[in-house]
Amino acid sequence: MKEPTKTLQLIYGALNDHFGDLHWWPGESSIEIIIGAILTQNTAWRNVEIAINRLGRQGLLDQKKLLCVKDEILEELIKPSGYYRIKAKRLKAFIHFLFEYYHGKLDDLFDNDIDVLRSQLLRVKGIGEETADSIILYAAEKPIFVVDAYTRRILERHSLIEQGLKYGDIQKYFMNHLPADVYLFKQYHGLIVNTGKTYCTKAAKCEMCPLQILIS
Ligand code: SF4
Repeated sequence: MKEPTKTLQLIYGALNDHFGDLHWWPGESSIEIIIGAILTQNTAWRNVEIAINRLGRQGLLDQKKLLCVKDEILEELIKPSGYYRIKAKRLKAFIHFLFEYYHGKLDDLFDNDIDVLRSQLLRVKGIGEETADSIILYAAEKPIFVVDAYTRRILERHSLIEQGLKYGDIQKYFMNHLPADVYLFKQYHGLIVNTGKTYCTKAAKCEMCPLQILIS
């Protein structure tokens, strides 16, 4: 097997040629991206889109409005995203954190360096590593690599990492061997998600997958 930097460049090149520029992640504002990152936990993106559209129609893609909206109304609006009571609590927990420490200003939150921002986000109830890193990369636009289940599956299936590595170790595999570049990390994660959804499903469709080049 080639050394990690070359392997990661090979993977990126093959996927980028195949899928093209994905403009990943959808969302017109930082708060919309954050809402999406919280709602997408354990559900398909199409369900999140429905919930976000419902929030948008009520003018609730706005932190001040979210602060004031009643829990029952928020729950009802985000119902299509599943686990809506838990997710409403998580959204509210983030909003309360934002107002308690940053007067509701995302720019002030994002002024922190990555380590401080990450540790603060992880202290908000219901925000785990993948969600925190999605917020940092896609909403704050700071270079951190987002690891998801597809990332693990693809790397494990090609024996690029050991089975059962921790999130942080998989993240280091990318961050120690790629330049810290926001566009690269955004696109790379999007490419991996697309590969996982399209080809590297539970029953892998290797014969059609652009990453079959790693097998030969
Ligand atoms: S589908 Fe096959 S070739 Fe593609 S990433 Fe998964 S294991 Fe690799």
